[in-house]
Amino acid sequence: MCGIFAYSGSKNNAGDIILEGLKSLEYRGYDSWGVAVKTSDGKIYLEKHIGKIGEARYRTVSGEAHLPALQSSIGIGHTRWATHGGVTEKNAHPHTDCHKKVIVVHNGIVDNYEYIKNKLAKSGHKFFAETDTEVIAHLIEEKMKNKKDLKQIVLESFKELAGLNGIIVFFPETEQFFAIKTGSPLVFCTNNNEQLIASDAVALLPYTKKVYYLEDNELLQISRKTFYLLDENRKEKFPVFMKLTMNKGDAELGKYSHYMIKEIWEQPAVLQNIVNGQHNHIQKGAKIIREAYGTFLVACGSAYISTVAATYLFSKIAKKHLNTSIASEFSYLEHFIKEKSLIIAPSQSGESIDVISSIKNAKEHKAKIMGIINVLGSTLYRLADYCIPLNVGPEKGVAATKSLTAKIVVYYLLAHELNGTYKKGVKELTQAIKETEELLKKHKKIKELSEQLKNHKNLFILGRGVSYPAALESALKIKEVSYIHAEGLAAGELKHGAIALVEKGTPVIVYNPQDETYEDTLSSAHEVTARGAYVIGVSNKNNQVYNEFIKVENCEEATIIPNVVVAQLLGYYLALAKGLDPDKPRNLAKSVTVK
Ligand code: GLU
Repeated sequence: MCGIFAYSGSKNNAGDIILEGLKSLEYRGYDSWGVAVKTSDGKIYLEKHIGKIGEARYRTVSGEAHLPALQSSIGIGHTRWATHGGVTEKNAHPHTDCHKKVIVVHNGIVDNYEYIKNKLAKSGHKFFAETDTEVIAHLIEEKMKNKKDLKQIVLESFKELAGLNGIIVFFPETEQFFAIKTGSPLVFCTNNNEQLIASDAVALLPYTKKVYYLEDNELLQISRKTFYLLDENRKEKFPVFMKLTMNKGDAELGKYSHYMIKEIWEQPAVLQNIVNGQHNHIQKGAKIIREAYGTFLVACGSAYISTVAATYLFSKIAKKHLNTSIASEFSYLEHFIKEKSLIIAPSQSGESIDVISSIKNAKEHKAKIMGIINVLGSTLYRLADYCIPLNVGPEKGVAATKSLTAKIVVYYLLAHELNGTYKKGVKELTQAIKETEELLKKHKKIKELSEQLKNHKNLFILGRGVSYPAALESALKIKEVSYIHAEGLAAGELKHGAIALVEKGTPVIVYNPQDETYEDTLSSAHEVTARGAYVIGVSNKNNQVYNEFIKVENCEEATIIPNVVVAQLLGYYLALAKGLDPDKPRNLAKSVTVK
């Protein structure tokens, strides 16, 4: 969560450069934003706003935010996802010490901030905001009273911060930055007398294809034109830069109006790439699973729901039982982890803090870690013993779409590889991808349906077998972007509680492929119809019990892919019908790096 961007270089429009960088990081948090630059006449210019970039008072005729024309070649910026202190201009980052000699942007939570704040207040520090972040600037200021070495001061201060944090400290007088982190990502690049740091390599793509991901507790010092890296043992380190495979255009909207719809439409191509080109990774992954004594899937959000799908796919296709846990619950469930256990961690960003903490704990038990990730170079990528890349390109819509279906493709192939039926898996997935293409062509029908459903407060989604995780994911997608309360249920569970909420007109989506679940799920559709529900059947076969019918051909267990895409489209069009921004739903952010 939160986007951090820092620039030091030869151009004299640092403010605009930082603002551009923040725009590409805004998917990480958009409660407020702020920029601090040192101008060529030596002044500090600090700009903060609540809301998204573009909603600021500097909005121009074209609707774009920009800063007043400033001559500046150095500064930092931040987009916030508030944890401590309300969403106000005062609480927006960057934060400063009492005299604006220390300027800080921060990602994470300073767990002991109250203790530090009380101590500093007694020494006379004046606080302007309510955030945990502000104490960092004052703590550094306090240490500057007795020490000169800024590097030592930053290191000592960072050591005093409890919790998982990433910071950039800007000293305008000496025109230096220091970056250090535990947990949340910071990526560095240097290019033609320019040095930049960002929370995600995507923001650095206009400058370079070679980046360095900071390791935890390393200190990166950036002075004009030079940089200096200290490893966690405080020895000088020469960073090995890694090459980015993505292109600048991959992270841009192109002809689409939102990232969510762009990423939905990208699915057939990116999924087919995995099917065609990942056999080596799948073979290696399957071997690791075969050799493990107990495999545990650990993930959050949509990725967690993908693991529920994985348990059905591995059971049915490979006759193999896999355990699954929500990552934030894993520390209460991990007592059975042994040396030969395998943890499979699917994560689009490779940065979700609950996943990273789980992996670190499992590593202490000497368990093996396999990541399924999209962002190469991410923390999970570096911590895992082995990684299967998703290679779906940047996913910037907050609601996961292509990364979710890509994970399902990976499990599908792994399960077939384990079963010795890889080619069958490829065939079924190719059919499911074709079906997804067909479905995308029918988007107008789903758009019309969204107009019909937009005023409902509750919506239920039913499925059995692998259609159950499809129902869970569909509910998550719809509630994330449209704010309609949607609940995904194993159809058989309906009568154990949720049916009490079904009344005349309540929309119920029923995933009912003609497989072993068909007849029972049809009965569930009848049960809700008898109570007045408005039933939307998603199946290869129409039935009079459905008030609306969306045809999705059967592609064996891979039908889950086009089924989930139905709900992605529905969520997207519901958001539009309600005048909401599907890319930046309220209270959410992508890449959750706080607990
Ligand atoms: N805890 C800090 C705050 O609430 C940082 C939040 C963030 O990572 O954006 O301001």
